[in-house]
Amino acid sequence: MSAEATAFIAIGSNLGNPRRQVDRAIAALAKLPDSQLVAVSPWYRSAAIGPGEQPDYLNGVAELHTRLPARLLLAALQSIEQAQGRQRNQRWAARTLDLDILLYGDQVVTEPDLTVPHPRLAERNFVLYPLADLVPTLVLPNGTPLTELLAKCESGGIVRDSDGE
Ligand code: ATP
Ligand code: CA
Ligand code: CA
Repeated sequence: MSAEATAFIAIGSNLGNPRRQVDRAIAALAKLPDSQLVAVSPWYRSAAIGPGEQPDYLNGVAELHTRLPARLLLAALQSIEQAQGRQRNQRWAARTLDLDILLYGDQVVTEPDLTVPHPRLAERNFVLYPLADLVPTLVLPNGTPLTELLAKCESGGIVRDSDGE
């Protein structure tokens, strides 16, 4: 068993009642083996960036303490997506649930099916905002402070989900 790491998981949904999907995902994350769910960010709504007309997204970030190595964690996240009816077809198509590993401690992973930190983290306000809600002082493995990415990212097209739908 590997040492404990702090992992940040991006959670997104824009199909099948997103509010319910993300709540179920949180419950599933809380049950992951050798892991502890330590925090969940506020939720944000934003317009989909994928192809065609798509419903808005609900996005947030969860903080886990885990002893699962990064690839096992990815496999576990993919089974949670499957359990919630995720269909894999067109890239960036609408989905019931998307779970991405944003950060896994200070680890840098560059493998064909796993890149950590998540390669598109810096350009996505729907990931940066909830991450900053959890850890405003966060610094990426390459030394870049989260605040620097926030200052550079688009601030439009995203709202805090106040009423929980
Ligand atoms: P994006 O990566 O732009 O957020 P997406 O989440 O829609 O797009 P998916 O179809 O869910 O992409 O996943 C495609 C593949 O990305 C997965 O099969 C997985 O192997 C790979 N992948 C690479 N790095 C990561 C990561 N950090 N977290 C989750 N999946 C990853
Ligand atoms: Ca994603
Ligand atoms: Ca994904």
